[in-house]
Amino acid sequence: MSGFTATRCGDLRASDAGHEVELYGWVARRRDHGGLIFIDLRDRWGVAQVTINEANTSTAAYAAASSLRSEYVVRVKGRVEKRPVENVNPKMPTGEVEVFATDLEVLSTSKTPPFPVEGDQEPEERVRLKYRYLDLRRARMQNILETRHRVNKITHAYWDAHDFLEVETPILTKSTPEGARDFLVPSRLYPGQFYALPQSPQQMKQLLMVSGVQRYYQIARCLRDEDLRADRAAEFTQLDVEMSFNDEEDVFELIEGWIGRLWDEILGIDLPRPWPRLTMKDALLRYGTDKPDLRYELEIADLGEVLKDTQAQVFRGALDAGGVVRGLAVPGGSDMTRRELDELVTLARGAGARGLAWLPGGPLDKFLTPAELEGVKRATGAGEGDLVLLAADRRRRAEKVMGLVRSDVARRRGLVREGEWRFLWIYPMFLFDEDDEGNLTYGHHPFTRPMEEDLAFIDERPYDVRAHAYDFVCNGYELASGSLRIYDRAMQERVFQILGLSQETIEARFGHLLEAFEYGVPPHGGIAPGLDRIVMMLTGTDNIRDVIAFPKTQSMQDLLMDAPSEVERKQLDELGLEIKRPG
Ligand code: ASP
Repeated sequence: MSGFTATRCGDLRASDAGHEVELYGWVARRRDHGGLIFIDLRDRWGVAQVTINEANTSTAAYAAASSLRSEYVVRVKGRVEKRPVENVNPKMPTGEVEVFATDLEVLSTSKTPPFPVEGDQEPEERVRLKYRYLDLRRARMQNILETRHRVNKITHAYWDAHDFLEVETPILTKSTPEGARDFLVPSRLYPGQFYALPQSPQQMKQLLMVSGVQRYYQIARCLRDEDLRADRAAEFTQLDVEMSFNDEEDVFELIEGWIGRLWDEILGIDLPRPWPRLTMKDALLRYGTDKPDLRYELEIADLGEVLKDTQAQVFRGALDAGGVVRGLAVPGGSDMTRRELDELVTLARGAGARGLAWLPGGPLDKFLTPAELEGVKRATGAGEGDLVLLAADRRRRAEKVMGLVRSDVARRRGLVREGEWRFLWIYPMFLFDEDDEGNLTYGHHPFTRPMEEDLAFIDERPYDVRAHAYDFVCNGYELASGSLRIYDRAMQERVFQILGLSQETIEARFGHLLEAFEYGVPPHGGIAPGLDRIVMMLTGTDNIRDVIAFPKTQSMQDLLMDAPSEVERKQLDELGLEIKRPG
């Protein structure tokens, strides 16, 4: 508009003094001094002070200003003036100026919001989610939206600069196993048949490699009907990447470059490269988890060797049954109270352990020989005043217990070095895993390429087979999984068979992929970092719903739109569906 400058509230600066402006925004605050009204006017770029003097405005404009309440939407015309020195507000970027209104018009009124849009007070989450549009109006949430936008922009620029092609893959598709339940969509045109929403674009990106795309990426929405877990969302976004003729080093280098760029541009932090690597085996042994937090030391030691002849019943029993004994030294831990130790025992029991032992000072002291006690100290690195916590169990359980104990002790004793970013690769990982019922299942997904040299024992010792699979982890969070893929039909069929899939199922579910593998398939592999989690780290929140504009609750409801919800009888009829009411 000619004659007007700077129509953004948040942009006003001392250099604008003397200019006529037209501002649009929301009323953040209004103070009425009788004849003189101040409003803080907010837009996406910040807040500016508007001053309305009864003597200098029309009666209508002054009346409008008198009627203002929080969150009304207004248009203001006025003149920017420098504030007298004593009124300068150094906390506001616009604090050197104010706008003397000559005209003011209410464009839209507002009810009293269910929580204040201004201020740092965090409203209750269910109310935030129901009134998400108001929640997103808060400065904290606007900042998160902006950071997320910047992450996307940097991401597109980065992968484009490395010759990756963005390809959109379908939302209505066929099931691809990623270890979760599928969301299903009934087909109206083919009654009784269903599409699956993608758990990830895994098969599509592999097929794109067969298509000769060679380098693909997509900021992809994934949908998994997970059982409710605090750190998972049913609908999430990942950066999906796949490339051909590569090995894992290519993936590591590209990902480290991309994360490095994000941390540099958004946080101004220069992350050291290359990132350290840890085998899955070592991660489980030394940290008791496949996502270790390296912001604290506390390393777990295997005590099988030093206790191999022990007569102490708990250890003997575990070792004879093919299990392990693992120990962890807590620096200065001899000052831990009985109550603290009991809490740790409860934690270990919660993870399925029979208990947790400690040395010295525990009931076990008298069952170990001096040489064994010395050996435990040496293996765990325990010194004077330290306490050793021990678990004796099946290997997987002992690892899990010690992993939990390790992070609990670190938190409890304030050992976490806040402000550090400890990225690392977990590589290689194992091809197979054990599910909750003790059955063989895939470690990553069934398309993962086993290591050639381990194929010799794939039938006898499947759990020991390593895979060209990798995760990257930071500060105790898994941020991505990826792998090189099988690109040989016979090998893919063999892995499906080991996983217990019948020939019929293989054909019905993966026939298309196996067929594609008969038409010239490049060796390929990729990765898929979780973008929501990365934005969480960059914005310093530990709530995944903070970084998703319109999230569902932990119990999978959309409180704003009220979804899921019932549909009309007619829609069900069209789909040929009948609802079975439980009970
Ligand atoms: N599709 C995998 C996932 O979503 C990632 C990958 O292997 O690229 O976890």
